[in-house]
Amino acid sequence: VEQYIYKFGLYTDDSSNTPQVMEINKKIHSLLTPKRFRHTQGVAEEAQKLAKLYGEDEYKAYIAGLLHDCAKCFTPHEQLQLCEKYSVEMDPVLYEQPALTHSFLGAKMAERDFGITDDDILNAIKYHTTGRAGMSLLEKIVYIADCIEPNREYYSGLKEIRELAYIDIDKAMKFALKNTLEYNTAKGRVIHPLSYEALYDFEEEE
Ligand code: FE
Ligand code: FE
Repeated sequence: VEQYIYKFGLYTDDSSNTPQVMEINKKIHSLLTPKRFRHTQGVAEEAQKLAKLYGEDEYKAYIAGLLHDCAKCFTPHEQLQLCEKYSVEMDPVLYEQPALTHSFLGAKMAERDFGITDDDILNAIKYHTTGRAGMSLLEKIVYIADCIEPNREYYSGLKEIRELAYIDIDKAMKFALKNTLEYNTAKGRVIHPLSYEALYDFEEEE
């Protein structure tokens, strides 16, 4: 029990130096560019803070944050190959928008290569780019932490999402989803149906 408590950092405030975290860090460090690595540290810390505020499991939020972009630094071609190899379910939009595949592939890698078994963590990774209808609190936390972590470069809407994040996470989600949808539409990108479903879901809740 003592080892278990130590390994998963139970009963400590700091999630950042458990053996599991150190192991994950070592692995993702070799998978990611320095900039992407810094981003994942930022997302993990931000997710932990949000989890504390909203009463979600801080350690799970930290782990999900660390792993959310683990598949991000493969080339689109490598991502498609890995998706095939790992039998990641593909849909037409993913072929058209390879940038979206890293979340679906990332969830699969988190399970296969990092030994994550918690479905909520895996889904938080899987839906961190598109969102989806009926998101869990952990999924929202990782989605928003990804948008606002301190290393994020400026983009239109960042300030609003940062403010809303610590007031009302559902309002932050609605704003962020709408913001991304408008941005990608303006860029002529195909929007994934999951993102529309997510936005409708948050609009209905009002
Ligand atoms: Fe991502
Ligand atoms: Fe990210």
